[in-house]
Amino acid sequence: MIYLDNAATTSPKPDTVVREVDRALRLYSANPGRGGHTPSVTTAKAVYNVRKSVKDFFHVKSEEDVIFTSGCTQALNIVIKGTLKRGDHVVISSMEHNAVLRPLHQLKEQGKINYTIADVVAGDNDATVNAFRNAINEHTRMIICTHASNVFGVRLPVERICALAHNYGILFCLDAAQSAGIFDVNLSDNGYDYVCCAGHKSLYGPMGTGLLLLGNDIRLEPLTAGGTGSDSANPLMPEYYPDRLESGTLNIPGICGLGTGIRFVNTRGRENIARHEMRLVQHLYRELSRTDKVMLYTPAPEIDEYAPVLSFNIEGSDSEAVSAFLNRRYGIAVRAGLHCAPLAHKAFGTLESGAVRIAPSAFSTERDIEILLKAVKNFIHTT
Ligand code: PLP
Repeated sequence: MIYLDNAATTSPKPDTVVREVDRALRLYSANPGRGGHTPSVTTAKAVYNVRKSVKDFFHVKSEEDVIFTSGCTQALNIVIKGTLKRGDHVVISSMEHNAVLRPLHQLKEQGKINYTIADVVAGDNDATVNAFRNAINEHTRMIICTHASNVFGVRLPVERICALAHNYGILFCLDAAQSAGIFDVNLSDNGYDYVCCAGHKSLYGPMGTGLLLLGNDIRLEPLTAGGTGSDSANPLMPEYYPDRLESGTLNIPGICGLGTGIRFVNTRGRENIARHEMRLVQHLYRELSRTDKVMLYTPAPEIDEYAPVLSFNIEGSDSEAVSAFLNRRYGIAVRAGLHCAPLAHKAFGTLESGAVRIAPSAFSTERDIEILLKAVKNFIHTT
């Protein structure tokens, strides 16, 4: 099998991650923070060590500001539902995933908030920043914006958009689902208020892992309430982090695997991985742009402006049909359809057709791309 659906989740995971999950299940199977006995304390230390490596990787102020979640979706829901109050307004980009759009829409339907979509102008960061500026109004409380489109790879000028938000006294939340492990995501340099990450994509952790990183002291209302092993006589959730936002038993094997995934990225080098993936995407782009009937949607990608994700279509064919052919005839796994990002498809005119998405990982090879190209050409000749 050639797996090129790494924007959904990376596969395979590094062997070290697989071994660490196995080790954690054997060694750390007592509940951390729930007892004073040795196995519980050992597990708590293991969790703390991962918290510390996350803190270092993203330059978070302290370990307490690292919240473990089940994925990026949960992290975004905590921020959106824990921060926004009745009457608030939010600005999002036209590249947002449903993990941002749907919780906002839910609150809008309940009559609580409103939101505006700022149009991203690929290749013109000034125009994109201006679109955000024009969408701000007196009730705007937060800007939420993806670092890079999960469909077309377009990279947003998030440092500038964050600075703009802060100029207006507005909170800034970064959706780093597609960028953590690829681009520099640095809370201390950029002053992001919230960063939401998937642990299972380019951080190479297991599925069911994610992160919420806090960059300010504003009190968040917890999305879920329950046991934390701390302040147990109090019927209210603790005021302090991470306990306030981490109720219930944590996903210890997942968290330990995520810690090892981050070590994998550090060892290979985040920038080396990004360059490797981008080289594969650029080669693919070059060849596809010379192939009759292939429809591409962006200029040739460069790492300053794009994440290593490429979507295309074949004239007259449904994206799902292309993906099914690649899977059946060549054992190539790619995703087709709408990729949970209808706003991005609307912006690029692919809401009806969807698109075939190619997303390599650190483990993808040139040979994978050559076989994919051969398969695409074969599809075109046989249909
Ligand atoms: N945001 C973006 C840009 C994504 O691409 C994804 C997943 O594909 C998510 C959020 C949701 O991430 P998760 O699956 O970890 O909840």
